[in-house]
Amino acid sequence: MTKRTFTEETIDRDNGRMAQPYDAVIVGAGILGLSTARQILLERPRSRVLVLEKELHVARHQTGHNSGVIHSGIYYAPGSLKARLCVEGKRLLERYADERGIRRLERGKLIVALDESELARLSELDRRGRANGVVGLRVVDEDALREIEPNIRGIRGLHAPHTGVIDYTQVAGEFAADIERAGGEIALNTEAGSVAETARGVEVATSTEAVRSRVVVACAGLQADRFAGSTTGDERIVPFRGNYYTLSPQAAGLVNGLVYPVPNPAFPFLGVHFTKQVDGTVVAGPNAVLALARERYGRVGFSARDVAATFTYPGFWRFATSHLGAGAAEVWRDISKRAFVRDVQRYLPAISDTDVVGGPSGIRAQALTRDGRLSDDFILRGSGRVIHVLNAPSPAATSSLAIGAHIAGLALRALS
Ligand SMILES: Cc1cc2nc3c(=O)[nH]c(=O)nc-3n(C[C@H](O)[C@H](O)[C@H](O)COP(=O)(O)OP(=O)(O)OC[C@H]3O[C@@H](n4cnc5c(N)ncnc54)[C@H](O)[C@@H]3O)c2cc1C
Repeated sequence: MTKRTFTEETIDRDNGRMAQPYDAVIVGAGILGLSTARQILLERPRSRVLVLEKELHVARHQTGHNSGVIHSGIYYAPGSLKARLCVEGKRLLERYADERGIRRLERGKLIVALDESELARLSELDRRGRANGVVGLRVVDEDALREIEPNIRGIRGLHAPHTGVIDYTQVAGEFAADIERAGGEIALNTEAGSVAETARGVEVATSTEAVRSRVVVACAGLQADRFAGSTTGDERIVPFRGNYYTLSPQAAGLVNGLVYPVPNPAFPFLGVHFTKQVDGTVVAGPNAVLALARERYGRVGFSARDVAATFTYPGFWRFATSHLGAGAAEVWRDISKRAFVRDVQRYLPAISDTDVVGGPSGIRAQALTRDGRLSDDFILRGSGRVIHVLNAPSPAATSSLAIGAHIAGLALRALS
């Protein structure tokens, strides 16, 4: 920050305790916390809004470590929050980016079936995408696939021409600037602790002082379940690390846009894909392996607290036993660059070991249920005055403006 201090007027002089200085306190300055705070200020221009962020900068975790894709909304179950908010969020984000001069490119996305065994799943994605209203979606045969991506091998594809790329750190920075321009405050280096509802509002203990608010919204990402405490219900966050490789500048020319596999139903992530980012760099990844620390990005990142949280949760063991084969393959590709390259060569045969170098990594905050299932949809939960975002993995960055509007609606209802 922007280190906020209480002023005379925020102190209730009658009893010397803090009055209700804020209408809304938001925990977490990732893209969702910032979007929510911004939306509350847009809808209630004079409201007092504070964002608490434990790091020294905004967008330090998932928002600053992702693929940068503006998803179209293909994969998600029709009618789900993900389906609705992704399609709406994409539209809002594109308009916002264009108004603010944030660079975005519609590179187009091709989901590639390598053989007949993947065709039924490709058709199901086509059905879902159409049901979700993805514009321009079409199934392409091998010749059309080659016209779109001449170096990619496959027998059929699903093409979404309007899938785009953007830099989400830049978007989050712009949201933060909007908040400050509208009179909101962002307290960096300030960790939120316990939340207590009282007759006078909600009190949040922070690493510096207690803050009182009428409404609290927690968008704590990888810490969401810890912050929510008993509100978490059945789910816990299990962190899945994803590593990327970067293609050499020559090899980057082999890919025009975004190329994805048909997702493996045995392992519910999107699979290793090629993404040509806004600056023209092509990354391959991310894979998905269990992370031994929620917020440390190296392969050897380790936190005893985080490991204990995962390994003592029965849902993790149920998930691990039912995904043993696919999980082991992911771990092997994580350790062996050769195995990773062999895997991507199935799509891009011209690539070789020397064309890829280690790139960035990210850690997904994925909610896992006690019976071992990855929660499919976004999860928002809470009482009227305290709202927790408990599961907001991809495509939550794409959906950020729509999710922010949705949560702001809930928060403003509680304020009225
Ligand atoms: C590898 C990877 C690839 C992805 N690719 C895409 C993509 O291409 N497109 C897409 O749409 N989505 C993608 N996503 C998903 C997207 O990045 C996330 O869904 C989104 O960033 C979630 O935003 P958030 O604000 O909820 O979380 P975060 O960005 O993680 O922010 C949470 C914030 O809360 C803060 N915080 C936590 N606890 C406290 C506390 N107690 N006190 C104060 N602050 C606290 C943290 O420091 C952090 O800054 C990807 C994610 C990953 C990991």
